[in-house]
Amino acid sequence: MDEHLDRIEIVVGDITLLRVEAVVNAANESLLGGGGVDGAIHRAAGPGLLEHCRTLGGCPTGLAKITPAFDLEEQGVKHIIHAVGPVWRGDDSQKLGYTLEDTFLASCYHQSLGLAAEHSCKTVAFPNISTGVYRFPKPRAAKIAFGHILGFLDKYDMIENVILCCFSDADAQVIQDVIDTREDWMFNRKRMG
Ligand code: ADP
Repeated sequence: MDEHLDRIEIVVGDITLLRVEAVVNAANESLLGGGGVDGAIHRAAGPGLLEHCRTLGGCPTGLAKITPAFDLEEQGVKHIIHAVGPVWRGDDSQKLGYTLEDTFLASCYHQSLGLAAEHSCKTVAFPNISTGVYRFPKPRAAKIAFGHILGFLDKYDMIENVILCCFSDADAQVIQDVIDTREDWMFNRKRMG
């Protein structure tokens, strides 16, 4: 799988400034906007996005819905994918894969990548879903994000590049550490599974 590593890039900055075909939003179940990255994406995409989202009837946790990019189209974004991550209520001492939140977060990445591929998007940018106000432990979220993105890229060629967009150097370092230690935890996961 490591041959796909160079298709994953860590970028520090504002996700609304990226020139990618699909931007993933860390949305909430209402899909009607919120704070954090959700607010930033709605501001950048303009009021047309909220108007469109009102017609979607919300989205359950762990799933995702796709919309046009509205004003973000000016910079080449074709779609916004609204993924609803879980609120963390779990126990971080439990092994990865055992909490409902892990499953929901993994599902967000799968659903989003599936929608991006279905809509022929070659480049996709993700924020660190659920790690803000939803309080998902960052290293745990990074393992789930990285593991599932790499697994997807291994099976499907449609998506050429995935950007993990971090809002700070510290968040980027968390992901880099997870990638650097992947042999330990990915091996453990296989042994358990
Ligand atoms: P959630 O409710 O899923 O936790 P948040 O928006 O609170 O969503 O936080 C998710 C992540 O997005 C956090 O790491 C936060 O620092 C980051 N973030 C906030 N604004 C932006 C932005 N404009 N671009 C990229 N990442 C952002």
